[in-house]
Parts: sequence; structure tokens; C-alpha cells
Amino acid sequence: MNSSRVTAEIDLAAVRSNVRALRALAPGAALMAVVKADAYGHGMLPCARTARAAGAAWLGTATPQEALALRAAGDTGRLLCWLWTPGGPWREAVEADVDVSVSGMWALREVVAAARQAGRPARVHLKADTGLGRSGCQPADWPELTAAAREAEAAGVIRVAGVWSHLACADEPGHPSVPRQLAAFDHALAAASAAGLEPEVRHIANSAAVLTLPESHYDLVRPGIALYGISPSPELGTPDRYGLRPAMTLRAMLASVKKVPGGHGVSYGLHYTTPGDTTLALVPAGYADGIPRHASGGGPVLVAGKWRQVAGRVAMDQFVVDLGGDEAAAGDEAVLFGPGDAGEPTAEDWARAAGTIAYEIVTRIGARVPRVHL
Ligand code: PLP
Repeated sequence: MNSSRVTAEIDLAAVRSNVRALRALAPGAALMAVVKADAYGHGMLPCARTARAAGAAWLGTATPQEALALRAAGDTGRLLCWLWTPGGPWREAVEADVDVSVSGMWALREVVAAARQAGRPARVHLKADTGLGRSGCQPADWPELTAAAREAEAAGVIRVAGVWSHLACADEPGHPSVPRQLAAFDHALAAASAAGLEPEVRHIANSAAVLTLPESHYDLVRPGIALYGISPSPELGTPDRYGLRPAMTLRAMLASVKKVPGGHGVSYGLHYTTPGDTTLALVPAGYADGIPRHASGGGPVLVAGKWRQVAGRVAMDQFVVDLGGDEAAAGDEAVLFGPGDAGEPTAEDWARAAGTIAYEIVTRIGARVPRVHL
């Protein structure tokens, strides 16, 4: 076994086959692999390379810094970043041929200035707020933004490469906001076209929409979580239903194993007490590694062929599991989560135990956990 304290193994073949499965589900659309936040904890560069090789014509990031890191690593394909902040490295983004999202006049002005400094047109995706209420231009302001963008385009300063939006509830089947948002998006597209804009790509679909809403696919789909083989929500079912395979397996080696008598308290606060004579194993991973403290007393771990639960609180660097009458030894393997087909828990199981979503479980795996790409 691997000699690391704790390791996140990333199965790039799973990422590759997930990209292919998602492309098959949206055959009329190009695919943007969303690799922000270190590819949801899976390692941005290896995942980006794998996704490109499997046919992702686009990559998507939140920050311009993430996009520039992809360029620095040699990526030359279409690439969009969308988390706009005033004073960001927009000139560098334009110089590096990174597409940027514009949600309002303030951003358009800044990107126009950046394009002038860079001496080349900026590729812009105008974002409409169709109901999510985060970034994106409100319908009342859309005519002004599209007209100004068209003017800047006619002047050769920008190219409106995309018009786009983001869904709020695609992971809740039958949610009434979805058709409302799609109708608002169609309205925004029609208004953009009336303003003289001819975007190359129109896009709104995240993973849940790729999986379940073909009417949302337009020219380009933007899956994130599904690339990594995780279902967007329990309501959408398990990933195998869509031909997806979880890419991350989190393994640790037991740091120590010891016998304790019944009535022994375990971990900070002594919230767990051994019910009888038993064996406790110490797993050397804690909340500094992204193991959620909210899963204290419930997070599942495969040790010696059985599921065990975190006994007591998850600490910064370690937690304890109660092996009952079973035997194990220091150095044995503990599997916190993985695809699930070797009997181990999944990231979804941890999400349930911690009262969160599987996105957070994988994305928060800490920087001190080595990623091993297979
Ligand atoms: N598009 C945008 C704008 C996003 O912010 C995200 C992620 O949050 C995605 C697409 C991918 O979403 P998901 O991981 O649900 O597929």
C-alpha cells in the first residue's frame, strides 16, 4: 500500500470516461470542463489535460488566476473565467486569450480598458441573471449592456463570444424555476440578437442540467461535479445511473491501534464512550485535511473489511474509529471514500454524515493531502 499518511488517489481514466459519457448526453453541444477550485479538489492541471484529450473543447474556471495558471501550463484551447472582481488581472487575461464574463457596465468598461492596454480585442461572454440572483445582468439593464457591448464590438475592442447564464435549481427535478430561467434566457438571447450580437456560444447547463434537461444544452454545456463522477444531488440518483464513475479515492493508513476498556472516553469533549472492551484505531487525517468536523460521530470509514464510524470528534489532524472486537494493525489501510464498488463509502455518504453536499467533501480535501493521479 501507499506509505503516505493520507492520499487522494485520482483515477484519470474515470475523468476521461465521464467526459465521454457527458458528451454523449449532450451530442449537439460542445463541452466546457469546469476545473475551478483545483478541479473540485482533484488537481486542476492533470484533470484539465485529461478532459481536453477526451474532447472538452472548452475549460472553465472561476478566477482569472486559475485560467492564467492553465495558460502557464501550456493550455491553448478555449477557456472562460467568470468570477469578476474589480482590478483583477484582466489585461493579462486578454493577452492570454482567456474569455471573460461581463455582468454589467462596470465590468464592460474595465474589460474595454484592458483590451486597449493589451492591444487586442477581449473575448467576452455577457452574463444574464435569469433568476439565480448572483452575478449576471438584470433584465432591466440588459438593453444598455448589450447595446454598449455591440458598440465596443463594432469598434473592434471586444468580441462578444458568448451569452450565458446559470441555473439555480437544476438539481431538483421538476423545480418550477428551471423553465422560468430557460424562458428568461431565451428572452435575453433574443434581445442580444436584436442588439446585433451574434455570439459563438450560448450556454446555461451545469452538470444536473446536462444529465436531465436536454432543452438546456444550447451550444455548450458546463459540467463540473459530474466530470469527477459525483451526482449533483441525491434526488438525481447515483452516478452509475448516468454512466459516471467517481474519480477520487481517499485512503489513509492507520497510525495506531490499541485496546481500551469499556467506559473509555474518546477525543475532544469525550462525546464517545466505548461500550465495552474494544480496539480503537487512529486515522491520521482531520479537519486540516478537509475531513468535516460536522461528521464527528458519523463519518463512515472502511477498515478491515467493514464500515466503521468516526468515534467522537474529528480533530485537526486525526480521528478515531472503534473496531469493536475486530483486529487491525498500525499501517493497515482505511478507505474514507471512493467509487463504492469495493465496499468503501462514497463522498455522498460523507456528505450525508456531515449534513452537506458531496461537492464540498471532495473540494475541501486539503492542500497537505497528496494527490496521486493514476
Ligand atoms: N458553471 C458555473 C458558472 C459554475 O459556477 C459552476 C459550478 O458551480 C458550474 C458551471 C458547474 O456546476 P456543477 O459542478 O454543478 O456541474
